[in-house]
Amino acid sequence: MNNATPRLLSRLLRSTPRALNNRARRYNSTATFETREWSTPLARTLANAIKTTGPIPIAAFMRQVLTSPEGGYYTTKPEGGGEVFGKKGDFVTSPEISQVFGELVGIWTIAEWMAQGGKKSGVQLMEVGPGKGTLMDDMLRTFRNFKPFRSSIEAIYLVEASPTLREVQKQLLCGDAVMEETDIGHRSTSKYFDVPVIWVEDIRLLPHEQEKTPFIFAHEFFDALPIHAFESIPPAPEGQSQEQEIMTPTGPTKLHRPLPKAANTPQWRELLVTLNPKAVDENIKDEPEFKLTLAKASTPSSLVIPEISKRYQALKTQPGSTIEVSPESRIYASDIARRIGGSSQPPRTVTKGAAATTAPPALAKRSPSGAALIMDYGTMSTIPINSLRGIQNHQAVPALSSPGLVDVSADVDFTALAEAAIDASEGVEVHGPVEQGHFLQAMGIAERMAQLLRTETDEEKRKVLETASMRLVERGGGGMGKLYKVMAIIPENGGRRRPVGFGGEVLA
Ligand code: SAH
Repeated sequence: MNNATPRLLSRLLRSTPRALNNRARRYNSTATFETREWSTPLARTLANAIKTTGPIPIAAFMRQVLTSPEGGYYTTKPEGGGEVFGKKGDFVTSPEISQVFGELVGIWTIAEWMAQGGKKSGVQLMEVGPGKGTLMDDMLRTFRNFKPFRSSIEAIYLVEASPTLREVQKQLLCGDAVMEETDIGHRSTSKYFDVPVIWVEDIRLLPHEQEKTPFIFAHEFFDALPIHAFESIPPAPEGQSQEQEIMTPTGPTKLHRPLPKAANTPQWRELLVTLNPKAVDENIKDEPEFKLTLAKASTPSSLVIPEISKRYQALKTQPGSTIEVSPESRIYASDIARRIGGSSQPPRTVTKGAAATTAPPALAKRSPSGAALIMDYGTMSTIPINSLRGIQNHQAVPALSSPGLVDVSADVDFTALAEAAIDASEGVEVHGPVEQGHFLQAMGIAERMAQLLRTETDEEKRKVLETASMRLVERGGGGMGKLYKVMAIIPENGGRRRPVGFGGEVLA
C-alpha cells in the first residue's frame, strides 16, 4: 500500500454523499458500456465511434448499417444462407413480384430507343442497385426478342456495393461464365447474348464516354442512399449568438469569424444519431441503443447542405420546419443526367460537407441520347420529413435498432433528383414522377397479363399471376401502384416529345 492511498480514502470519505454517488454512477456506466451485450457487432462499432467523436449524422449511420463491409445490411451474407429480398427476406420489391414488371420496363426502353432514332450501336445498359438482378434479367429476356435493339447493346454495367449481391447477380445474368477482377471492379459475360457485364461499386467509377447511348435504371436504389435531416430553430434571444461554436467530428470548435446575422435569423440544426442512455447506461430492456438528437450547434453539414436549393432556403425562415436531404442522391442524379445529356460546364461540387467527392470532368456530347428511369417510393413534390424507416421480416421496426440486421431507408425526394439532373446537364429534361400504377397501365400491363393468362392453364398459377399484377398497380390502401413513383430523364427536346408512360405515344 503506498502513502497516497489513506489520504485518497479520507478525501473520498469527506466528500459529500452526492459527489460519491456521481462517481459511483459514472464508474458503473463505463462498466456497462464496455461489458454490455450489443444487439449486433456493428452496434458496438457505432457506439464506440459515437462515444469518441460525439453524435454522428444520420447519413453516416445509414451508410454504415447498409453497406459497411463489417456487418452492413446489404454487404453481409444473411445467416444460414437466408435472403434479403423476396418472400423469405425482409421485403419484396416490384421486379420480384412479377416478371411483367421487368418486361414492361424493357418495352419502355425499346420504345424510347426507337423514339431517339434507333441507334445501331453504342447502347449501354446500366443499373444502379440491382439487388438479385431480377429486373435486368427480365429486361434482357425481353430484349432478346427485339433483334435490332439487342444488337445495339454494347455492355451491361451494374453498380452494386454488395459483394454478396454481386455474386447473386452474376449467377442469374451470366450463369457459369467466369467472373474476373478488373481495374474498376469485376467483369463477366451475359448468358443471353455475347456482351460484357461489368460491376463497379460506385457510378463514379464508370467512365463518361461521349458518344454512347446509356439507358440507366434505378429501382429502389435511391431510398437506400444516406440522408441528412435538419430542423430550423428560432433565433437566439437578443445579444446571444448561436453561432460562435460549431460541432465538428472532433468536438466543438469556436468560429474565428462569427457568421453574419447569426443572432437574429433562424438556423438549421442537424438531427444526429447518439447513444440512448436508457439502453446504454440504465440497461432498460427493449430500449433501442441509438436515438436521434438535435445538434446543439451548427455542424459543417447544417451550414452547407440546406443552402444548395431554394426549396430548403424558403423553409429555413419558419422555425420548426424539418427537411431531409440526400446529397449523395443528388450526386447520382447529376452523374446520370450528364451521361445522357452531356455537359459543357465542369460540374459544380454538390456539397462541401461530408459527402463531398471529386466530380467527373465536363462532358460535351454532340447529341444527347439514352434515358434513365428512376422507380422508388417517395414524395411527388414535397420535401420528405420523418421518413427514416426500418424494416425487418416484413415488419416496421425502429430504424435505429439492430444495426445491420434492419433495412433502413428513406423517402426519395423526386423533385430534388429532377433539380439536380437539370442543374447538371443542359441536355436533359425530366418527366414525372407519375404513380407506378399509371405508368404500368400506360405500358400495357393489362394486355401483357391477358397474353400470359391465355397460355397458362393451371388454375393455381393463373391466380398467382393475376394477384401479382394487381398488387403492382393497386392504388387504394397504400397500394404499391400509388406509393411507388416513376420518373424519366430523357434528352432535351423542348418538351415536344413525351416518353411513353408519361403521356407519350409509341413512335414506330
Ligand atoms: N433494385 C433491386 C434491389 C433494391 S435494394 C430491387 O428492386 O429488387 C437496394 C440495392 O442497392 C441493393 O442491391 C444494394 O446492395 C444496393 N445498394 C445500396 N446502397 C448502395 C450504394 N451506396 N452503392 C451501391 N449500391 C448500393
